[in-house]
Amino acid sequence: ESIVAPVVGTDDRAYEAALRPRTLEEVVGQDRVREQLALVLDAATARGSVPDHVLLSGPPGLGKTTLAMIIANQLSAPLRITSGPAIQHAGDLAAILSGVMEGDVVFIDEIHRMSRPAEELLYMAMEDFRVDVIVGKGPGATAIPLEIPPFTVVGATTRAGLLPSPLRDRFGFTAQLDYYEPQHLQQIVTRSAGLLALDLTVDGAAEIAGRSRGTPRIANRLLRRVRDYAEVRTGGVLDLAAARTALELYEVDDLGLDRLDLAVLRALCASFGGGPVGVSTLAVAVGEERETVEEIAEPYLVRLGFLARTPRGRVATPAAWRHLGLTPPAGAEV
Ligand code: ADP
Repeated sequence: ESIVAPVVGTDDRAYEAALRPRTLEEVVGQDRVREQLALVLDAATARGSVPDHVLLSGPPGLGKTTLAMIIANQLSAPLRITSGPAIQHAGDLAAILSGVMEGDVVFIDEIHRMSRPAEELLYMAMEDFRVDVIVGKGPGATAIPLEIPPFTVVGATTRAGLLPSPLRDRFGFTAQLDYYEPQHLQQIVTRSAGLLALDLTVDGAAEIAGRSRGTPRIANRLLRRVRDYAEVRTGGVLDLAAARTALELYEVDDLGLDRLDLAVLRALCASFGGGPVGVSTLAVAVGEERETVEEIAEPYLVRLGFLARTPRGRVATPAAWRHLGLTPPAGAEV
């Protein structure tokens, strides 16, 4: 598991739970989403009704699960947690929904990965607060309609566009989470350090923030590595020097690139003259699976403007050459 991977790792869970904001006020950044969501919740509370279904979209690690928990918390409602991959049969979902009580919040992570029949059952439940429970099999099967009390679905997806529009349309409120600005990441690690009673300096926090790829999950994870280093090497002081040394030790560079990212860039520039080169060839050159290069390394390199995906293959931009300390070849413009 890479230290800069955006998805939750096995040893992240307990640590993340301890750092999770519990109210909207504690959430750092995402001001617009926070305000809109506050309005949705306050309006529902004032009306004494259940809030609209909420769809949260955005890359992993930006706070979707956190917001779902806050929604339930603010409504003083229990949160039932499930995920698209866990709902392969419509019956799996029917079982969950038939146990729902009025005002419950049902969080469905990776909602775009549900099976089609489950999706259909879900949007009926979201619209009419009713599910058809199928009893029996084959020609003798009958659908028994079951009323369910009003409840709120909070769906999370990496891209809202991955959802079929009938399902997407059932969400009264959709929030798009964006990558965080460095100053917000700095606030997040500072807050985390406070919760963990760590001695983190302002420039230490800024250094961690700058290497976190716009992602709170990564910021908190880097903080943990710096803490390890500081506990053993600096008597517990997490300052700029400690942050730099620790993160260099873990091979996370000043832009948050790790060994794989740099290997891809180096192969692209040094071995293939900056491209264009096919992604499979590039993967072989760095000794990785094509999927790993495509799904783990490339998105952030593209986001930084270091790599372009063109019809003829991957191309390094002048910025990529410069980041490696190399001179871009004449005419290397994308
Ligand atoms: P997602 O569900 O989008 O993958 P999570 O909600 O699990 O992301 O967030 C990952 C970690 O980052 C959690 O520990 C959470 O506390 C922290 N985090 C995410 N967003 C924020 C935020 N806006 N402010 C403070 N901490 C955050």
